[in-house]
Amino acid sequence: MIDLSIGRDLETWLDQVRRLGRDYLRPLGIEADRRHEPVPPDHPFFALAWRMGLGQPLGVEERSASGPRNGARRGVVVAEEMSYWDRGMSVAMPGLGLGGPPLLTMGTPEQKERFLAPFRDREQPHWAAFGMTEPGAGSDVAAIQTTARRDGDGWVLNGAKTFISNSMRADWIVVWATVDRAAGRAGHRAFIVERGTPGLEDMRYEHKMGLIAYESSSFTLRDCRVPVANLLGGERYYAERAGFKGAMKSFNATRPAIAAMAVGIARAAYDAARDFARAHYALDRPTPRYQRVREKLARMARKIEGGRLLCWRAAYLADVEQPNEIEASMAKAFAAGMAQEATGLAVEILGDAGVTADAYVEKLYRDVKAMDIVEGTGQIQRLVIARRLVGLPG
Ligand SMILES: Cc1cc2nc3c(=O)[nH]c(=O)nc-3n(C[C@H](O)[C@H](O)[C@H](O)COP(=O)(O)OP(=O)(O)OC[C@H]3O[C@@H](n4cnc5c(N)ncnc54)[C@H](O)[C@@H]3O)c2cc1C
Repeated sequence: MIDLSIGRDLETWLDQVRRLGRDYLRPLGIEADRRHEPVPPDHPFFALAWRMGLGQPLGVEERSASGPRNGARRGVVVAEEMSYWDRGMSVAMPGLGLGGPPLLTMGTPEQKERFLAPFRDREQPHWAAFGMTEPGAGSDVAAIQTTARRDGDGWVLNGAKTFISNSMRADWIVVWATVDRAAGRAGHRAFIVERGTPGLEDMRYEHKMGLIAYESSSFTLRDCRVPVANLLGGERYYAERAGFKGAMKSFNATRPAIAAMAVGIARAAYDAARDFARAHYALDRPTPRYQRVREKLARMARKIEGGRLLCWRAAYLADVEQPNEIEASMAKAFAAGMAQEATGLAVEILGDAGVTADAYVEKLYRDVKAMDIVEGTGQIQRLVIARRLVGLPG
């Protein structure tokens, strides 16, 4: 059974998110898109939102010893809402981002204390980042080439990372490297690389077709030396070979929220198309043209609902600590594809008005494409589902 009630606290919170969405997220997202520049970290909105307790909506939480666990469900609800207003802005928000799951899953108590402490300060916004992808290793994470070599009381990292969200503004980045390229995933280690560490170099923006509000950056690690204490989880974690799998598993908690962001974009496209159709078309006339517009709107609404339910189911399973790999992958694969279809249909419904540069649906059409790439492409999600369904290990 899935519990679909979100509770009064979350309802009230969503009202606040809606207000912030209308007043800040969408206008700032549009402005960033027009200027083709991410919203800078010192923008006053980030400090305001952070003080209010609003950050990146990924459903990542520190586990409390008691009380109901509903972080993943909160994550999908807030992620959809924020992304409805602007998906780029929702990722630009301060917070642990994808750096959170590995720290919370693998980190030693000392590491959690040390690296989470800045994020408890609500006066100054803080960001963290997750650096796995490399120029030649995206879907195939086992192929990462960044090396880690033990040297005295530290580790020396060499390699390059690409498309790492918020890494330029991050206090620290979880950087994945290998101690033995031939060992595949067994050779992987995760390190916390703090901002300003010598050898963390060449930080530069990648220019994206959409989602401009947040920065995606590439960087080089050149003889970048980090202390032994920054090896995430400590050596024991990897001796038990649980590290990499543990980190990947933790993404099953965040993947439903990423999928819900696609649902949010689809909902924004639907609303824009519906409002346009109401204002410009005589929808009550039984002409074939208007019937097709009605059908398109109904198709969008139906699929949005389906996508949302998949996200909810995957999040619910994460909250009750049940395996959800298939469900999380289904939610991600379906929602990203559905949202692409929805933005395409919205552009069609608006006709020529939909492709003009200042049409909101045109921005959504560009924003949505990356949703099928981030955190596992649609093809990879379908492979994961198929492997699980036929009983092969993931
Ligand atoms: C906006 C954005 C933000 C990102 N943020 C981060 C981040 O914060 N941290 C981070 O580490 N990475 C991040 N990434 C990188 C992202 O994780 C990778 O882009 C993604 O994993 C795909 O890797 P790739 O781009 O190298 O494509 P490839 O893996 O080269 O894939 C290219 C194409 O081949 C397909 N393909 C690949 N392997 C197979 C296969 N076995 N079978 C069938 N088809 C296959 C893929 O589906 C895809 O269509 C981000 C990417 C984007 C676009």
